[in-house]
Amino acid sequence: MILVLLGPPGSGKGTQAKKLASERGLLQLSTGDMLRHAISQGTKLGLAAKSFMDRGVLVPDEVVINLIGERCQSSDCEGGFILDGFPRTIHQAESLDQMLAVHGRQVDRAVLFKISDGVLLRRLSGRRTCLKCGSMYHLETLLPKVAGVCDQCGSNLVQREDDRDEVIRKRLLVYHQQTEPLVEFYRRQGKLGNVDADQPLEDVTVSLLRAIAAK
Ligand code: AMP
Repeated sequence: MILVLLGPPGSGKGTQAKKLASERGLLQLSTGDMLRHAISQGTKLGLAAKSFMDRGVLVPDEVVINLIGERCQSSDCEGGFILDGFPRTIHQAESLDQMLAVHGRQVDRAVLFKISDGVLLRRLSGRRTCLKCGSMYHLETLLPKVAGVCDQCGSNLVQREDDRDEVIRKRLLVYHQQTEPLVEFYRRQGKLGNVDADQPLEDVTVSLLRAIAAK
């Protein structure tokens, strides 16, 4: 199965993608995680992406299309994968369809995580992230066992540069302008499902499984 998770930043796509991936033996491909990894390694790609990410705007289409194009052709993706944070523009979605079609494959399902901007602002500004393994915590709702330390790998937790208030507002604006048109794109292809993302984590998982099976 090739699954696309759509939704604004902070709607829980990453958390659900990781959970689903480990439970279903699928791969999770997150362009955000790949770009942050490139930044932490100091690669040319990371350097190029950082200034866009810190401002809350999208990295140019060709950069992320190449990144995903290479990644989804490797043999470990043959069993299927979950895309989280890609595509984010119509051009990315069309390029994805073309890249997959070359190999006789297609997106099977796209699921939209629905949630209001107000809830997202609260969620994202309290979010703390492990830069090493990507695990997420929250100052109010999901505290680590030891303050400031990742439960999974013991590294320090940080507030991502792009989780600062003014950058969050920018990211939401970018989402509404550039990514939301994908809802209609996948609806027209008859592939769209929805989940209410403003529910406890376990309930979102149940809704997500239902939305995937509903086709
Ligand atoms: P995320 O962790 O998915 O919220 O992504 C963090 C940042 O990485 C975004 O605000 C963008 O600057 C960049 N990014 C991630 N995925 C994409 C994408 N598909 N297209 C363009 N920029 C992206």
